[in-house]
This record gives sequence, structure tokens and C-alpha cells, in this order.
Amino acid sequence: MSVGVLALQGSFHEHLAALGKLGVKGVLVKKPEQLEGLVGLIIPGGESTTMARLAEYHNLIQALQNFYKKGKPIWGTCAGLIFLANKAIGQKSGGQELIGGLDCTVHRNFFGCQLNSFETELPIPKIAAEEGGPETFRAVFIRAPAILEAGPSVEVLAEYTLLSNESTKFCSTIENTENEGQCQTGQKVIVAVKQGNLLATAFHPELTSDTRWHSYFLKMLGENGHQSLVPVKVKQDP
Ligand code: GLN
Repeated sequence: MSVGVLALQGSFHEHLAALGKLGVKGVLVKKPEQLEGLVGLIIPGGESTTMARLAEYHNLIQALQNFYKKGKPIWGTCAGLIFLANKAIGQKSGGQELIGGLDCTVHRNFFGCQLNSFETELPIPKIAAEEGGPETFRAVFIRAPAILEAGPSVEVLAEYTLLSNESTKFCSTIENTENEGQCQTGQKVIVAVKQGNLLATAFHPELTSDTRWHSYFLKMLGENGHQSLVPVKVKQDP
């Protein structure tokens, strides 16, 4: 009974380490046959076009779609979120393969370029209520996407409120012409969602020591019939 971490590219080692902190040994996935027998999968952050191309090269797109269709929980972080979305915009070069399933339109680089990357104390009311700990989460946004539209079955777990200087900063890059209407100061931008067995975060919980999102995902696996993976007691750094 193992949890997989897609290991084509990006921050997969960090996800393995976070799972390890919760007593769960993750399995790296690079080939379709390695999905067999897994009870859930994490798709890390990285670069979604590269990840999609590597997935195509390794014949993983359909295997990943089948994994989702079997109802197995998948959590996508950052590039992983983009990969799970039904629709991605903000691409320079016209399209990339997506696994799909998440009823959302995602802007790939909503929060600007690499230099616009930032960390923030993000309010996480639902996760804090379920996992305990502080009401906010130190969220690391690296060339991060955002969810522009979410369907009725999508539950919003976290929103980021645009500060006054950010409405121009994030919307002034060439790639971001498509999100102009979504860049008002004070506007709430969706950055974490759950839809059935899919979890998606625009930021990188694997890059911080706070394991509450990993614990939350393991609980989703528990609800899917794998109770032994649920951490008995989540240890938080002080
Ligand atoms: N915006 C990036 C992309 O298009 C994702 C960045 C990340 O995963 N840190 O793939």
C-alpha cells in the first residue's frame, strides 16, 4: 500500500521527505507500470510543459488519466496543479498535454515570472480546522499559477488576496495579458482546491517544514479506504 510521487522533474524528493516525516514511505514513479498498486499520487511542482513532455515521452499521460478515473486520490502542487486542470491558459507556445479532471481554468504563470516568486502567510481555515496548528501556512509561490475559474464541484481551500503593488506587478508580464481582469487590488485569487479525490495547491508545501497539507492528503487516502496511512499524530514544528 504505497503512495507515489511523480518523479519526471521538479520537487519530488522534497515530497518524499515530507511523507517520510509523517511515517509514510513514498515511491518514485517514472513509468506507467509503477502506478500499479499505488493508492494515491503526488504530482510535484516544477515546470508543467517539461513535465507534460516527459510524461508523453514515457507514455504516462493516459496511465495518469486512468489512475484518476479509477478514483485514486491525486494531489498536484504548482506545476502539478496545472497538469491536473481541465484547462490551462497563459502558455507562450500554444498548449500542452494535461491529465485533466480538475474542473478549473488555471493561469500557468498568474503570479508572474521567477523573479516575482514570494512567500506569504496564507490563511488556511479548513486545513487549520482539520489539522490543527496556526490559522495560516507559510506558502511558497514560485512562478506560481492561480485558478481563475472553478466549477461547482470544486471546494476552495485557500485564497490569496492581492496587495496594492501586486495588482500591477503580477499582471504586467507579457504572458499575463489573459488575467488582466483578475488583477484588482484586494481581489481574492484561488490558490488551493479540492474536488472529490483531487487536491491542488498553487504553492509548494513540500518546501516548508509544516506537514499539514501532506497530512490532509493522507487523510484523503484514509477516506478512500487506506486508513493505515493516516498519521496518528501530526507533529508540527514549534
Ligand atoms: N508556472 C510553472 C509552470 O508553468 C509552474 C511553476 C512551479 O511549479 N513552481 O509549469
